[in-house]
Formats: sequence, structure tokens, C-alpha cells
Amino acid sequence: MKYSVALTEDIHKAAYEHLIRLDRQEDLCFALWFPSQGHTRKTALIWKLILPGSGDRKVHGNASFTGRYFERAIGEAVKAGGGLALMHSHPGPGWQGMSSDDISAERNHAAATKGATGLPIVGLTIGTDGAWSARFWEKTKPRTYERFWCESVRVVGDALNITFMDELMPVPKFRKNLDRTISAWGHKKQAVLSRLKIGIIGLGSVGSIISEALARMGVSHVKLMDFDTIEYVNLDRTLHAYEDDSTTGRAKVAAAANAFRKSATSEKVTVELLEWSVTEEQGFRDALDCDILFSCVDRPWPRAALNLIAYAHLVPVVDGGIAIKIKSNGTMRSADWKSHIVGPGRKCLECLGQYDSGLVSADREGYFDDPTYIQNLPMDHSIKRNENVFAFSLSTASFHVLQMLSMIVAPSGLANVGAQNYHFVTGALDVDRDKCKESCLYPSFTAKGDSTGIVVTGIHAKAEEARALRLKSGTASQTWRDRIVVLYHAMMGTVRRAFLKILKT
Ligand SMILES: [Zn+2]
Ligand SMILES: [Zn+2]
Repeated sequence: MKYSVALTEDIHKAAYEHLIRLDRQEDLCFALWFPSQGHTRKTALIWKLILPGSGDRKVHGNASFTGRYFERAIGEAVKAGGGLALMHSHPGPGWQGMSSDDISAERNHAAATKGATGLPIVGLTIGTDGAWSARFWEKTKPRTYERFWCESVRVVGDALNITFMDELMPVPKFRKNLDRTISAWGHKKQAVLSRLKIGIIGLGSVGSIISEALARMGVSHVKLMDFDTIEYVNLDRTLHAYEDDSTTGRAKVAAAANAFRKSATSEKVTVELLEWSVTEEQGFRDALDCDILFSCVDRPWPRAALNLIAYAHLVPVVDGGIAIKIKSNGTMRSADWKSHIVGPGRKCLECLGQYDSGLVSADREGYFDDPTYIQNLPMDHSIKRNENVFAFSLSTASFHVLQMLSMIVAPSGLANVGAQNYHFVTGALDVDRDKCKESCLYPSFTAKGDSTGIVVTGIHAKAEEARALRLKSGTASQTWRDRIVVLYHAMMGTVRRAFLKILKT
């Protein structure tokens, strides 16, 4: 298991203000966190600071806290159903090591914390430049607590500021052919960009182009997720998909992964092929392993899942889409494409009108894959529209990648360009900087992780069917372990359908 910590910019600012003192002495405080369990990474999401009251701690060069303060913090953690974190400051910049006093302060409170909250104590250190470092203290044997360093700490707001532990996440080597890219924003930004774990959800027209762009910018680790098969009608606008792929029924992720490896400018790349939907438990957990996600889906259910991930799990989601309107004589009325990032402090997908929450359950129940249901929808219903042009996808993909670059590179300190809507007919670009509606629930899920009580995953019949067909035709590209899971799901699907048939008769 890998470890990480994430916090919002607001919490970061409040912690910085308290911990980084003008008199240059170290200070400390407690905080509450909620777990976010990914497939290979566990993240502690810092939810609330528990600042010390008078007499709660002593500041004497390096700080110490009283038993009374620890007990009050534990009490709050138990009440909230979360975990406890101990934060303190150091007088230098960058990722921080630990003194023997630091180690005993955290280790000596590991058992009491685990006993009361059921979760490991998490330790964080902040440097003078605002860089965080963090570790989990896991129980490995009776009465034994071991330190597990986090690979990164992510601060999510207008910008995505990440500090990596270099020993666990060394800066990748680049090929000489990346020189001109690096000279555009410098080595420091490239070192962040190249170590991000980036997920692309949907490898169709827009996703396949984003994947190519990331490969050529030195990104080293991508998770490509799509359950779909390449079809003949996709070939006009899916990058790197060819006639052969549609005849053999190749997975979209397989074509994209192959292309990513060929175009990569980082010396060593990890490309994960995930033939899931983000609405399936496996796909959802894989998405939680990522630092940032591209949403290239067009259905309400996966968008609802991604919206939850953006707020509850603090993984920013770049989203958008193309809408083309046709006149009754078959000529173009309008073509518009949107691009925006959702996450803490920004307007969510539901408030942006990117999906209708009333349609999520219809999508979940498979109505949108049912030809009779679709036939009865009005002609201009979003589910029915499928016009698209490669050039429009190219522009949309570019907007999406630029949104991500603004957030990571933040040129001249500008990280949030707002939600963009480009109108092809007039060439105008609208920008929306509003926040969520008062009545929106998503901001209240911020940093709640797996503890929101909302389940967005379920059985995705269409995805199961697509994988089973590829397995049968020998074009499956998963690992053997995943193939067994696919087979198991296909079998369970058959049993479920037979059972439903019996129920109906
Ligand atoms: Zn220390
Ligand atoms: Zn909202």
C-alpha cells in the first residue's frame, strides 16, 4: 500500500498561519482526517484543525503538547468518526525528516489514537515554504507501530500544490527531446508534472488526444480507464484507432496505451490499462489513486461519481464536452465546447449543468443502453445527440490540458482560469467564475472521503458485457488477475439475468 495526504487550500492557509511563527519557533496543532481508500494508495484527507487553547502546548524552540489537549482532540475525532493527525512546523523549507523527539511524540500516541478512533495517527510537518511532509503510524504487530512515509502531500484549491518525498518518488529522467518543453516552465514545474498520477476516464475522441498530449509533456504515470471497444463509427475521431482495431474489437484503452508508450518523452513510463467504468467499485478505487482526473465521459452516472470524487476525495476533475445543434434542414446551428475543473472552491458538475441528477438512476438501471427507451426520447435529448467532429474534439482536449497546466504550472501565480465555454460560430469564449448554488450538497462533502455515506458505484451491465465479449474474442488486454475478475463478473451477470428472467415469468 502507498500513502498520501491531501488538504484544501483553506485548511492549508489556516495551518500555515498558526504553525509558521514570526518568532521562527516551531509550533504544533492537531487535526481530524477521513480516509480515502484507493486501489493501491491510502490517503488521509485533512478535514478540520483542532487549534490549541491557552495552556494546551508549550513553545520552547521545539513545541510540546499537554495530555489534556491530546484528550480533547481525540474526543473530537471520535465524535466526528474520523482519525487524528498531529501537525508541527520546522524552520527549513521542503520535505522534512524527523528528530528523535518527533518520532517519540508520534509513536507514543499511536496506540491510544488507534484504540480510540480505529485509525492510525498521521504525522505532518510543514516547512517555511509551505511544503508538507507526512507519515502514517500503522500497527504491524501487537503493541508495535511502524512509520510509513507518504509518497506525496497534495494541497488542492485554485492550484494543485504537491510536495513529493524524493526517496519514494524520484524525479524521472527525461529524454533529450523534452528540452523545449522544460524550457517553457522550468525544471521545478516539470518535476511536479512528471510525477503526477493522472487518470483519463474515457478514451474516446477527447480522451485519446489528451493521452497523447500527456505522453509528449513528460508525464510518467497514467491510468487509462474505459470499458468500451473500438467500433467502426469511432474511427473518424479517435486518435490512434484504425480499421483493424474495429474489426478485431480491440479495447479503447489498449490502442491508447500502445500510443502513449510510443510517444512518451519520460524515460520510464507506467501505463495502466483499466477496462472498468468509474462507476464500478474497481474503477472507482483506481480513480482514487490519482492526483488529477480527466472526465471524458458523457453519461450522468459516471459524472455523478466523478463529482463526488472531486469534493469528497480531493482529486480535482477536469471535465467538459461538446454540444452541436442542427437546424431542421440538416445544417449547423451551433457548436460549443466547455472546459472546467471541479473541486473545492470551484463550481461543481451538477451546478455547471454537466449532468441532471434526476437522470443518474435511469442511467444506473441501464435505460440509456435500451434502444426502446432511447427511441421514445425527444430528438434533441442529450442522450440521443452524437454529432462530433475531430477538430472539435482536438480543441476540447486542448482546453482540458490547458486547464490542468494552469492548475499545476500556475504561470505568474494564476492557477484558476474559470469555467470556459467556447462558441465555434462566433469565436467567443465565455468564462464563469461562480461557486456552487446555496442548496448544493457537494461542498459539504469536502474531505469526507469514504465517510460521506453515499454509494455511487454498482453493477454496470454494459461494461460487463463489453469485457466478456473481448475475453471471448481474445482481444482482452487486462492482466491475468483482472481477467479472472472479469470472468467472475460475467458469470455472476449471467446468473443474475437468468434469475431476473425467472422472476419475470
Ligand atoms: Zn520536528
Ligand atoms: Zn454544486
